[in-house]
Amino acid sequence: MKIFLTRSIFTAAALLMAFPLARPACAQTASPGLPGSPVDSAYAAILTNAKVVKTLEDIKADDARTFAEQKHITEIPAPPYKEKIRAEYYLKRFHELGFKDASIDSEGNVIGLRKGSGGGRPKLVVSAHLDTVFPEGTDVSLKEKDGVILAPGIGDDSRGLAALLSLIKSINANENIMFVGTVGEEELGNLRGVKALFRDHGDIDGFISVDGLGITRVVNQATGSHRYEMIFRGPGGHSFQEFGLPSAIHAMGRAVAKISELQTPADPKTTFTVGTVVGGTSVNAIAAEARMAVDMRSDSTEELLKLEARLLDLVKQAVTEENARWKTDKMTVEIKLIGDRPAGIVAMDSPIVQATQRAVSVITRAPRVTFAGSSTDSNLAMSLGIPAVTIGGGGEGGNWHSRNEWYRPVDAWFGPQNALLTMLVLTGLDGVTKPALQVRAGK
Ligand SMILES: [Zn+2]
Repeated sequence: MKIFLTRSIFTAAALLMAFPLARPACAQTASPGLPGSPVDSAYAAILTNAKVVKTLEDIKADDARTFAEQKHITEIPAPPYKEKIRAEYYLKRFHELGFKDASIDSEGNVIGLRKGSGGGRPKLVVSAHLDTVFPEGTDVSLKEKDGVILAPGIGDDSRGLAALLSLIKSINANENIMFVGTVGEEELGNLRGVKALFRDHGDIDGFISVDGLGITRVVNQATGSHRYEMIFRGPGGHSFQEFGLPSAIHAMGRAVAKISELQTPADPKTTFTVGTVVGGTSVNAIAAEARMAVDMRSDSTEELLKLEARLLDLVKQAVTEENARWKTDKMTVEIKLIGDRPAGIVAMDSPIVQATQRAVSVITRAPRVTFAGSSTDSNLAMSLGIPAVTIGGGGEGGNWHSRNEWYRPVDAWFGPQNALLTMLVLTGLDGVTKPALQVRAGK
């Protein structure tokens, strides 16, 4: 995951909270979780429930084993499109933890369903992603120094995967929950795992992704992106003898010049860049081919599509101008979509955001919860209008997507504890609370 923008919400309630048995004395702000809301009353009931308190303790007691699991998962390589070995291990763990019917779907996602009792319960997905950004052959062995672990993918998202297993281990209730290890979350995968999940399961009412580490940062906004590769092609020829032919590099240069003058809104934040260019074969040859890769992002689908339409038009104009310059029609451009992540937002007053914010405050006693925009598996759910958040798996770390990625297990159990409370409030606890998450109309 990557964080693009942040927004902070102050919760007075968090300061006053005596975890885990008492409810907040008051909540003074207009922020989510006002006293009397369904989420607030659900927490009041859940936090005084002996079974829930015990489960929170069990998760904490499982911390060392969860960390060992995280390290084990990290050392099973999972390059883009090659998550299979890690997926098979994850499936084995699902089976061992009681999901007898767990399986790997046609896209490669590992799925275990805990069936809810009674009808009318919402179906919630709790997930983490199996894939890493690291290509095949990357050394994924752990290096440990002064309590810090260095290894590619140790945090992103081995932590999420391990947190999910700890959570599964600790619960016995009958919530209607689908646990999923997804494939294809990172760049090249283009969310192929969650795309397949939502295609195959039209009955999902809510989605939680455990990705990243920080507990007090919650993602409720999906930054959308469209990426293109543009391949300019012409006849090519000798720079002197065949002068007069159109050049692929010149055509691309015209396109880059036009793109660089585009104006986009600051809010919703909308961006573009020509990230890479390659082309030509020799200094004394009119280039026959040139390629560039373009990245466009926005927090709004509408703005993203507007920008895309303008940019693609400019590229075509550039080709027309290059052809006109040399009175030919030999220059062409092939435009390939290489990245497509939808944008979306979940309202601050929606039950899933309220439930997550309250869980974070209870678990960490942190006064601040930061809401952020990012690109994660939740993008897809958000773009479909399905309530979704991405939450941290616990602990500290950094150098994401680099071979020097590091992790330190500081209060790491906060991750699965946070997921547990959020999950229980959303799906309801049998005989104790009603689900805060709504079953979608027309399901
Ligand atoms: Zn990630």
